[in-house]
Amino acid sequence: MKRVHNFSAGPATLPLSVLEKVQNELIDYKEKGASIIEMSHRSPEYTEVNRQAVERVKEITGADDDWEVLFLQGGASSQFMMVAHNFLNMDRTANYIDTGTWSAKAIKEAKLFGNVHTSFSGKEGAYGHIPTNDELTFAEEAIYTHFTSNNTVAGTQFAAEPKSSSPLVCDASSDFLSHSLDLDKFGLIYAGAQKNVGPAGVTVVMIRKSFLEKQRSEAIPTILNYKTHVEKLFNTPPVFAVYILNYVLEWIQEKGGLSYFEKFSNEKSGLIYSEIDQDDFYRGTVEKEARSKMNITFRLPSEDLEKKFISEAASQNLMNLKGHRSVGGIRASIYNACEMDSVKALVDFMGEFRSKNG
Ligand code: PLP
Repeated sequence: MKRVHNFSAGPATLPLSVLEKVQNELIDYKEKGASIIEMSHRSPEYTEVNRQAVERVKEITGADDDWEVLFLQGGASSQFMMVAHNFLNMDRTANYIDTGTWSAKAIKEAKLFGNVHTSFSGKEGAYGHIPTNDELTFAEEAIYTHFTSNNTVAGTQFAAEPKSSSPLVCDASSDFLSHSLDLDKFGLIYAGAQKNVGPAGVTVVMIRKSFLEKQRSEAIPTILNYKTHVEKLFNTPPVFAVYILNYVLEWIQEKGGLSYFEKFSNEKSGLIYSEIDQDDFYRGTVEKEARSKMNITFRLPSEDLEKKFISEAASQNLMNLKGHRSVGGIRASIYNACEMDSVKALVDFMGEFRSKNG
């Protein structure tokens, strides 16, 4: 069996042990004579999977009973709209911190429902900067402050949560469960699973009950209302995706939880950044203080060399290193399931490529 070193920004590599478990159970789940994906989402088997996944998210993040965990469809992109639809109206304002492509998309949706105060915009600086607390401005009485904890396209990440007097709403799609969280500051966290925690098709939403009480009073379509999903399993969930997510969560716990992955991400990203910083052959694209531990973005001296880098890397089994189509360059995404072996293979390749082409 050949497994590539996969640096995809998402859907991303999954733990091999999880894939093997799924493979073993795919046709006959726990000797029931049927696959989990052939069973009713109301069956005892799926009910237990869903229950375990909810409990595991809570255990891993340290969430208490004030938190609800939902597994929704529609991707993180749907949450841009759903958050605003549930909490904003033309009499209300939310703060939005614009640190990248995905924040900008969230702002666009929020403006359809209510007032947006842009606390900071990094657009002019090509999104290479993460604001300090001193650079942020807030609207008084804002219902929430939205931020993107890790900016997948530019390759930046908040080192700590922004300081705001409103509850934080966080798009954590590309760093969810890769570092510890100070949950007290948050009202809602959402994350498309397909980077750090599972396959595409499920979006994890953590919502604090006391925050949900601040929902706007106008009618909200049933499926888009968070309360619908908090009250009961409303419609068919993405059964297969949640089932795999549950095993990824189990794997996260077995490895040692958030502190393990925080340390692991520091080590992995540290190796690549120190290779980048050796001289000026490789050039990081964002400010050093803003660097992401998940998506490492850099340039080479020319676009021709970048093309050569990507194709030679692929010939050595190092896949999906092309930067996002909107920015070009190189991007190595090293989420939780990216092994140290893959990172070391990439760093070795970078060193060799520099000595041949530098
Ligand atoms: N937010 C962030 C930070 C992302 O990286 C992405 C996708 O890459 C999205 C939102 C959009 O997610 P989805 O494709 O699940 O809608």
